[in-house]
Amino acid sequence: MLMVDIIEKKKKNIELSEEEINFVVSGAADGSIPDYQLSAFLMAVCLTSMTDRETTKLTMAMAQSGEMLDLSLLGDNTVDKHSTGGVGDKTTLICAPMAAALGCKVAKMSGRGLGHTGGTVDKLQSLDGYKINVSREEFLQNTLKNGICIVGQGGDFAPADKKLYALRDVTATTDCIPLIASSIVSKKLASGAKNIVLDVKYGKGAFMKTPEEAEVLAEEMVKICKNAGRRAVALVTDMNVPLGRAVGNSVEVQEAIEILKGNGDNKLKELCVLLAAHMYSLCFDKNIDEGIKKAESVIKNGAALEKLRLAVENAGGNVELIDGKSSFPEPEDMIYMEAEESGYICDINSLSIGKAAMLCGAGRAKKEDEIDYSAGVILMKNIGDYVEKGDKIAMLQGKNNKIREAAKVAKCAFSYSYQKPKSKDIVYKIIK
Ligand code: URA
Repeated sequence: MLMVDIIEKKKKNIELSEEEINFVVSGAADGSIPDYQLSAFLMAVCLTSMTDRETTKLTMAMAQSGEMLDLSLLGDNTVDKHSTGGVGDKTTLICAPMAAALGCKVAKMSGRGLGHTGGTVDKLQSLDGYKINVSREEFLQNTLKNGICIVGQGGDFAPADKKLYALRDVTATTDCIPLIASSIVSKKLASGAKNIVLDVKYGKGAFMKTPEEAEVLAEEMVKICKNAGRRAVALVTDMNVPLGRAVGNSVEVQEAIEILKGNGDNKLKELCVLLAAHMYSLCFDKNIDEGIKKAESVIKNGAALEKLRLAVENAGGNVELIDGKSSFPEPEDMIYMEAEESGYICDINSLSIGKAAMLCGAGRAKKEDEIDYSAGVILMKNIGDYVEKGDKIAMLQGKNNKIREAAKVAKCAFSYSYQKPKSKDIVYKIIK
């Protein structure tokens, strides 16, 4: 088989066979196909797209190009939840313990943050001592015992995707639905869960800018998961504004704890309840209304908070931070941002707030950058709140020299209007 023939075929929009797709994927994983041919292939896919059959085969082949985690020891109720990335997105820290409290087995591998979006692993590492690298055996045993274990994405998952993803970044081929869907789902398939809940974000702080685009991606991902024999559902959700009030690492963990204690931001809570309800409903084949009631009950009775506590304790993290017996490290400095006008807050641009949090020191501009766990942005006012000029609207924390730079970016995030804006639903659509 010749790579040039496969590129030619794809260029002419002729459906590729399974053998041809496997040839491309194994050549990407073992380095036998040069970057210029892989890049040409990616561009051909971008321009002509792929059939559902091709996308599923591509996804399966990429998943199988590396380690495939076997979770069979944990039974049929294993569940994974994936977010396409956002600002202030601490939902895993909340809905994973909720789902565990509902009897699901949450063996979760999470990523680090990059750019303006955060990563669960960084948030967890703000609980000092939290070990993100554990052996596969320990990962399985902890999940078996507690129903939950959250670790970093170690191992050699989907190496073909690693190669193609790096090329897509530099060949203007990132914004292609079959390539995005296969990239994300290949890693989900390799991490082994039988049930998969996807949170597909749209808006200023997200990869997909419109709800319609996010819906197409969500439909594609759900289809691939099902074709691969997994149960799946996707929630298409709003990321125009940050999720909740805190953006950073330790500040987001503290917000997650507050939600699990029954307090905190209503929209964040609503989304987490819905995610946990879908995790439960997929695992146990129950209707979603029952899932919602149960998810709310594990917040009320403290069972979900207890699951987070167990997960942190097992990972060697400081549980006193959860129990409120010790405090998270204080930032070096903090400043308040004040409203520049009087009026109703009608927009808080998530992209600007995400960038401001990164500039405070909470995120990485480059993979190798160090992060400051205590850095971040706390929103003190929400959309729809009326403010007078000069009122405090946000707090920025981190190193003294960084937060002043960050404040200039955060300032642009807020918009004001004379009329109270209508409240928007956080969930646009649910794709089953
Ligand atoms: N995340 C991924 O893993 N892959 C993509 O293509 C986009 C987001």
